[in-house]
Amino acid sequence: MTYSKDQLQALVDEAVTMGRQCHDGANADYIPFLAGVPSELCGLSIVWCDGTLIHSGDCDYGFALESISKVCSMALAMEQKGAEMVREKIGAEPTGLPFNSVMALTTHQDKPLTPLVNAGAMATVSFLDAADKESRWRMILKFQQQMMSERVTLSDEVNQSEQDTNFHNRAIAWLLYAAGNCFCDPMEACEVYTRQCSTLVTCDDLATLGATLANNGTNPITGKQVIQSENITPILAEMTMEGLYEFSGDWAFLVGLPGKSGVGGGLVSVVPGKMAIAGFSPPLDEVGNSVRAMRMIRHVANQLNLNVYSPH
Ligand code: GLN
Repeated sequence: MTYSKDQLQALVDEAVTMGRQCHDGANADYIPFLAGVPSELCGLSIVWCDGTLIHSGDCDYGFALESISKVCSMALAMEQKGAEMVREKIGAEPTGLPFNSVMALTTHQDKPLTPLVNAGAMATVSFLDAADKESRWRMILKFQQQMMSERVTLSDEVNQSEQDTNFHNRAIAWLLYAAGNCFCDPMEACEVYTRQCSTLVTCDDLATLGATLANNGTNPITGKQVIQSENITPILAEMTMEGLYEFSGDWAFLVGLPGKSGVGGGLVSVVPGKMAIAGFSPPLDEVGNSVRAMRMIRHVANQLNLNVYSPH
C-alpha cells in the first residue's frame, strides 16, 4: 500500500500526540546536563532514501547524541579496518547487561563483545588509525557530520558535564587496556569517546543518520557516499543485537527494525532500502531507552508494516 504525503504527515502527527500523552520515565541524571533538559520535548522525523522528510514536534531542538555516536564510530572503524576486523577485535554479540556493565567485561575475559556498549565503543575509538587525540576526535566528528549534517557540533557544556563525571567509563577503559583490548592510551580513548557522545543533533539529523544506513551508505540529503555498501549489513546486524541494550531482543520482537538509542533521549530505527524513523524525548525507562521515542516509532512502524521479519 502506498500512502500520500498528507496521510504520512497525519500519521506522524498522530504518533507525536500519542507520545506527548505518555508521562512515564525520567531524564538521565547521572550526567548532570541531561537532568536539566526539558522533559516535555518530543519529536519524530522520517527521512526516506530519496531525501523526503516528514516530521512533527520538536525536530529542530539540539540534544546530546550520546550512545548513538557508537554507530558512527563503529561504521568508521569498519571503513578503516573492514567489518571482519571489528568483529574479531571488538565483537558482535549482545551483552544482555547494562551499557556500562563491568560484569559484562569480566565474564568475557575483558572483551567488550560489541561496539555498541561503552566498553566496546571506547575500544572502537582506540582502534581507529589516528596519530593523536585531536586527529582521532576530528575524524569522528567529521564522520558524524557526513552521516548527518555539517551542523553537528560539540557542545562544550555537555562535554564538560560528562568529562567531569565519567569516572566509571575511565575505570572500564583501564580494564580494557589491562587486557590488551584498548589500542591507544586508555584515557585518550575515554576522553574522545566522551566527546563523541557530547555532540548536539536534531531529530531530523538523527533520521538522516539512519537514512544514510537505509540508503546503502549514501547520505540522502547531501548525496554523498559515506559508508561502503559491504559494511551496511554488519552495522545493521550489530544494531539489531545491541542497539537498545537489554531491550534489543524485545524491540526486534515487537518492531523488527534495527535501532540505536542514546541517554539523551534519541532513538533511530532503520528500514533498509526505504527510510529511517527517529524519535526524541528525554524521559528514559530503566534500561536507558526513550519511552516516548519507542512508542512513536513502534506506532509508525506497525501502521506502515515495516517489520523486516514480515514476509508481506
Ligand atoms: N555518554 C554516555 C555514557 O557513557 C552514553 C550512554 C548511553 O547513551 N547509553 O554513559
